[in-house]
Amino acid sequence: MRAALYLDAGHVVVDDVPDPTVQQPTDAVVRVVRSCVCGSDLWAYRDTFKREPRSRLGHEFIGTVEEVGSAVSTLRPGDFVVAPFSYGCGACWWCRHGLPTSCPQSGTWGGGDHDGAQGEALRVPFADANLVVIPGGVEAYDDAGLLDLLATSDVMATGLHGAVMAGVTDGVTAVVVGDGAVGLCAVLGAVTLLKAEQVILLSRNPTRQALGRQFGATDVVAVRGEEAKEAVLDLTNGHGAEAVVEAVGTPDSWTTALDVVCDGGQVGAVGVPHTAPTIETMPLLSRNLGVRVGIAPVRRYLPDLVERVVAGSLAAGAVFDLTLTLEQTPEAYVAMDRREAIKVALVP
Ligand SMILES: [Zn+2]
Ligand SMILES: [Zn+2]
Repeated sequence: MRAALYLDAGHVVVDDVPDPTVQQPTDAVVRVVRSCVCGSDLWAYRDTFKREPRSRLGHEFIGTVEEVGSAVSTLRPGDFVVAPFSYGCGACWWCRHGLPTSCPQSGTWGGGDHDGAQGEALRVPFADANLVVIPGGVEAYDDAGLLDLLATSDVMATGLHGAVMAGVTDGVTAVVVGDGAVGLCAVLGAVTLLKAEQVILLSRNPTRQALGRQFGATDVVAVRGEEAKEAVLDLTNGHGAEAVVEAVGTPDSWTTALDVVCDGGQVGAVGVPHTAPTIETMPLLSRNLGVRVGIAPVRRYLPDLVERVVAGSLAAGAVFDLTLTLEQTPEAYVAMDRREAIKVALVP
């Protein structure tokens, strides 16, 4: 089959790789219907993180079950499924407590020597515990519906997780720092699922501002740094926001997040801190701030998110503003690296 491979910084190719097979009784083989490129795929592409040459890429997908191992009991060939971007065993203390990202057997598609989602098919370990069946089968969804479902695999769940960690609840004012797919999905999650009253998106990009407003942002702040702080204070009667989602992970975005949160408020951070921001703890103490940082345990959110997409009450697929074929994966990386696309969907 065909799959995208990482060669070195700035260099992704699509090549022939062995077909995936059931290796453990708990495995399934899933044929990809849609996958995509993630902002986090760009770290190795930009040489921020090291990655093994010829390692597989992609960790977000929806697909159809092709084959299951003898111990798989809840899935059958033909089932239409979505996978969380990382998997767990489903049986350990962490998995049973909704934190499969801490499972000793956890892994990510494309991580280590695992199949990636930017390919025609994958072997899925612990299939019963990880794959969520989408009702109606693949034929029940048009292109837009498929992208709404694909978004639940990572960015919708990750954005929502940021808003949950920031303590967004009914009636609060929230700020979202970051206008990537995750930040935009944090806006949607804060408004649609958590019922925030006011959501302020920090964005300087007109396309992303428009999508943020479509997702329910009540205000857009198009400046950075000290100016952004002043603008948010102006919009919040001078006290700042009770909940702030940090969806970038840089020292500057952390400074802004802590500048715009009100005393007694909370920051929920899902931006990967790849440039090592440091946080002073004394201001957290004197201002009574809460800070939660976490990789999204997507599987915990998936059944609810899928149900909402199927019911037509949640549609995050608009974050995919470009769709290419699997063979065009190298072009997808270029488009995202240049910020010409928010997020690129791939059709096998
Ligand atoms: Zn991702
Ligand atoms: Zn586990």
